[in-house]
Amino acid sequence: MSRVLIIGAGGVSNVVINKCCMNPEIFEEICIASRTKSKCDAIKEKLDGGKTVITTAAVDADNTQEVIDLINDYKPELVINVALPYQDLTIMDACLATGVHYLDTANYEPPETPKFEYKWQWAYKEKFEKAGLTAILGCGFDPGVTGVFSAYALKHYFEEIHYIDIVDANAGDHGYPFATNFNPEINIREITAKGRYWEEGNWVETEPLEIKRVYDLPEIGPKDTYLLYHEELESLAHNITGIKRIRFFMTFSQNYINHLTVLQNVGMTSIEPIEYEGMKIQPLQFLKAVLPDPSTLGPRTKGKTNIGCICTGIKDGKEVKYYVYNICDHQECYKEVGSQAISYTTGVPAMIGAKLLLEGKWKKPGVYNVEEFNPDPFMDELNKQGLPWHEDFNPTLID
Ligand code: NDP
Repeated sequence: MSRVLIIGAGGVSNVVINKCCMNPEIFEEICIASRTKSKCDAIKEKLDGGKTVITTAAVDADNTQEVIDLINDYKPELVINVALPYQDLTIMDACLATGVHYLDTANYEPPETPKFEYKWQWAYKEKFEKAGLTAILGCGFDPGVTGVFSAYALKHYFEEIHYIDIVDANAGDHGYPFATNFNPEINIREITAKGRYWEEGNWVETEPLEIKRVYDLPEIGPKDTYLLYHEELESLAHNITGIKRIRFFMTFSQNYINHLTVLQNVGMTSIEPIEYEGMKIQPLQFLKAVLPDPSTLGPRTKGKTNIGCICTGIKDGKEVKYYVYNICDHQECYKEVGSQAISYTTGVPAMIGAKLLLEGKWKKPGVYNVEEFNPDPFMDELNKQGLPWHEDFNPTLID
């Protein structure tokens, strides 16, 4: 019998929980715990009556002892962390203290400086190994499925992959002048940071959104995409042998860029606290409070996403080109679980990673990124759980 604690009750969490309830033979009991318990109760209310038994709890996951107490009380086998990246280390500490496995979808970053690096979480490797516990890092779509796609490509089609371009295209329209598809604070920190890609053993830094390419992708059409640093670049550069260059591109409309530029110009995206009517406030956190909550975008967002990896390399001395991708329809997701496709494409892989861990297929003591596991069972599950993938052996390559 599996009992799982899910921390966080936002857009991604809603999908993870819905999908766990669709796999009750694995997820027999779940506890949804978050800072605001009413959000946990609202998710539970919609799903109660199914085979999975759901309970809820309040927890401040910035406080390790609170998480330890909750784990000791609920006694789960695994904690799925779909709160924010700031809570990764406190939750990992609590898992170590209580002997529980761990899974998340975003790497730790210190709240005071946006630094997207795995070093803090990779430093836990030995502790998890010694405790006989598994920690799976970055098990959403990107990071997550993009790592599994890369591992699958390497296993089945290449001796060496030399170049990977990860392309994340969202042709969805929510009708608002400006809104982000997942937590606005985390999203804007990522987009306003310097761009970076890995080439010939070095990181090459760019100004934010400096490099633009037009990708013409299946079911999306031609779209402006911009080079960003994204956390899976670090782990894939480390784990995919033979790689010479890896980059990440994401689509943004001109309208989105215009709004972001204005917000940046007036200081609204700053994370430096300012004095406001006798209080210290962080402009970006204030901006988050006035922007639409991503978990409410589901009914309004129409269109599709296409996220995948374009790989080139060699097999049997010949050049191989390979593109593997998923297309997801915002409204189909909304009909199924009440969320838009960005939450859906993150939450489904988190559930799959948890399922494989609980089934013992992705269980090995230590701290791992997804590409370090056998990709095959994960790829099978993607097809079964709502994120089918497609292959193209002659994709257009862009310099
Ligand atoms: P939301 O902001 O919608 O939800 C976050 C949830 O975490 C909220 O319920 C929030 O509580 C809760 N939370 C925040 N701080 C704490 C705390 N200290 N203790 C307990 N609970 C807390 O975010 P999303 O659902 O959009 O994103 C969730 C995660 O998924 C993020 O880490 C994000 O980076 C990641 N992500 C990963 C992607 C991928 O493909 N790998 C893509 C998209 C997102 P409250 O309601 O009280 O604020």
